[in-house]
Amino acid sequence: MEYLPALWKPKAPRRGLWQGRVDIGKPNIEEVKIMKAARLYPGESKLRIDEVEKPKLEKGYAIIKVRAAGVCATETHFVEGLIPVGNPLVLGHEIAGDIEQIDPNAKTDLKLCDRVAVYNMMSCGSCFNCRNDMENMCTQAAGQLGFNADGGFQEYVAVPIRSLVSLPQNVSYEEGAVHACSGMTAVHSTRLAGTKLGDLVGVHGVGGVGLMCIQVAKICGAKVIAIADSEEKAALAKEVGADEAIVCIDYSILVEQINKATNGAGLDVIYDLVGSTVGWNAMIDSVACRGRLVIIGYRKEDLLNFHPVGLLLKEGQILTSVAGCKRDLELSLRYANEGRISTIVADRIPLEKVNEAIQLIIDRKVKGRSVIVS
Ligand SMILES: [Zn+2]
Ligand SMILES: [Zn+2]
Repeated sequence: MEYLPALWKPKAPRRGLWQGRVDIGKPNIEEVKIMKAARLYPGESKLRIDEVEKPKLEKGYAIIKVRAAGVCATETHFVEGLIPVGNPLVLGHEIAGDIEQIDPNAKTDLKLCDRVAVYNMMSCGSCFNCRNDMENMCTQAAGQLGFNADGGFQEYVAVPIRSLVSLPQNVSYEEGAVHACSGMTAVHSTRLAGTKLGDLVGVHGVGGVGLMCIQVAKICGAKVIAIADSEEKAALAKEVGADEAIVCIDYSILVEQINKATNGAGLDVIYDLVGSTVGWNAMIDSVACRGRLVIIGYRKEDLLNFHPVGLLLKEGQILTSVAGCKRDLELSLRYANEGRISTIVADRIPLEKVNEAIQLIIDRKVKGRSVIVS
């Protein structure tokens, strides 16, 4: 299989294969009872392809026919044991598909056959955090799809209706799936960082989220310098709009490279997707006066370990950002629909090869985002 990057530009709205052939309210649903699911078992490092029962429709839920599910760096945290699973769990938290069944008594504008992206936090909508724009940290969540509830690496997934977002017309399933994590995360971290017109922005790590951060920062009017670990990824960063791209092979000279690129000013906002101790230290040394380092990525072994005085003398800040709110996903999809954000789908991979897709991330070989398709 070739793993070539491809800039995914849909030419026409993409529809479910059987959309238009089903009477709304009288679905001609093929009676599927057993389906394939890629599950991680406790203590194991490879997902098993199991035959499992198709989820049943419950009150307030919809059953989504999964069309695309993104493969995220978070998957590596599961298979490496950083995020343990208690029971066999279907991974995949970046999901887009068609509504195949929906609670007929639910109050919603969504209907059968609608194309949707999934907000993976099954938030309650009523706790303090949900009421205060922090639903990514809902304290009463029913779960998080692909984290502790069965996710999208299966043929059908049960999703609370309140977690569904309509896919806009110009956004493909693959794009929608990627926005359900990477795009949403980029919008959310940009809101937290307050990235604004004229800022000098660094994006450390040119993977799925990094490519989105570059584009969202450009929408804010920033000048963006990407920091990549290969010439190929630096080229990808420029392809999506980075003004400059530094190839970092040796962290001992990175601060010098950034200083040169910013005429000694440093970076007003840095998005860190890599999550390594050496990288964080280089980023802290590269923050401008009153600049912000936003930590998004992390790794199993790496700790944040630095003396604060250098940062203190610059009044620099360290922020963290986790996933996003539903409205971040909606905005991210709107930008995609308007053609302001491109999604680089590195490869479309069948469910059976999900372990290969995860290994490619571990080997840092993915140029963009791999997507499981069916
Ligand atoms: Zn993700
Ligand atoms: Zn809540």
